[in-house]
Amino acid sequence: MNTSESTIGIVGAGIGGLVAAIALRRAGHDVVVFEQAKQFARVGADINLTPNAVRALDGLGVGEAARVTAARPSHRISRTYDSGEETSRLEMADSAEQRYGAPQLTIHRADLLAALADMFPAERVALGKRAETIAADDKGVTLSFSDGTSARVGVLIGADGIHSGVRTAMFGAESPRFTGIVAYRAVVPAERVAGVPNLGAFTKWWGPNPQSQIVTFPLNRGKDIFIFATTPQDTWHLESWTAPGSVDELREQYVAYHPEARALLDACDTVLKTALYERDPMPAWAQGRMALLGDAAHPMLPFMAQGAGMAIEDAVVLSRHLDGVAMADIPAALQAYQTARIERASQVQLGSRGNNWLREGGNADWVYGYDAWAVPLGVPAQG
Ligand code: FAD
Repeated sequence: MNTSESTIGIVGAGIGGLVAAIALRRAGHDVVVFEQAKQFARVGADINLTPNAVRALDGLGVGEAARVTAARPSHRISRTYDSGEETSRLEMADSAEQRYGAPQLTIHRADLLAALADMFPAERVALGKRAETIAADDKGVTLSFSDGTSARVGVLIGADGIHSGVRTAMFGAESPRFTGIVAYRAVVPAERVAGVPNLGAFTKWWGPNPQSQIVTFPLNRGKDIFIFATTPQDTWHLESWTAPGSVDELREQYVAYHPEARALLDACDTVLKTALYERDPMPAWAQGRMALLGDAAHPMLPFMAQGAGMAIEDAVVLSRHLDGVAMADIPAALQAYQTARIERASQVQLGSRGNNWLREGGNADWVYGYDAWAVPLGVPAQG
């Protein structure tokens, strides 16, 4: 893979890294993505993209491809776990489109990654390149990979997720913290649970404590229903998109929930299980010729469904700060990117930890109404 001190290198071909790659290339830069995986695999699960994320993807030109398999939830509903009482209901779909310029979409993560990968030259994605050491100087950054090769770039973006090595190279080692919460993910065919109301909506059942919830929403254009449930459990520490869980355990955890929520769990044949980790907000994301985005900068709990959304926003705003900027001026542009993004992402990171978002109504505009293509450059977002 040819690179030089005129190249922007990105470590990580996840959602954040690929959006950044497409947008930075469009902004006139030579971009190379280094990804540790040997191939793009269909792992993960459904992801909920709120209007702020969809609007950013639309501006990138990927919205149409994303809509091919996505579902478009009709509402965002909050219900109390045992009584079933509805405590808030927000219209999405057309209403969100009118209010925010984009709907909410729910899509398989792999479909979104495939749509993004199609928009970036495959020959500029270096697969099987696990970055091991990263050394920056005044002119650029040198990376060494686990396969014994190395590369030199002018600027390096760390989009390498919650365990980011770029972050460690910039700011020192500090491990993510286990939250004591696990998440179950399952998919059931909609026809199997046809008697359950509101299947076209995003519904969050608020549990007896802030760590316990069941979220359900349509996927695959409504043919299936995705179930995302969390509960406190400090004995399971494995972080994985593919580790199986037990459906019996899943059902036991939520016996106190309303019959309509339990009917969905009863219909599951299989379930996946992962432990949830997070970090505190950082005081800085940019340093010299390197900057972070997405989970590398601000891994958050999934309670506001904003992790991927924030990564997408970061990537778009980063590309706007670097649009047409000469390599010599990039360190200042990276600082301006940090100024524009850090407050908002930290606010969402802390809000996700607090887990109270839209429980009893409230105004969603500050999150859903953000337009990454139009916010002023170098200025903190208005929260
Ligand atoms: P990642 O997706 O983690 O990508 C990082 C990439 O870097 C990977 O491809 C990895 O292989 C690569 N990499 C790592 N280290 C190296 C290295 N040393 N060298 C080379 N490559 C490397 N967000 C939402 O917006 N909506 C949701 O509904 C939602 N649900 C979620 C449910 C769960 C259970 C969890 C855990 C998270 C959820 N999120 C959700 C959060 C979302 O998944 C993440 O915030 C998002 O994927 C972050 O994207 P990223 O590109 O920053 O990092």
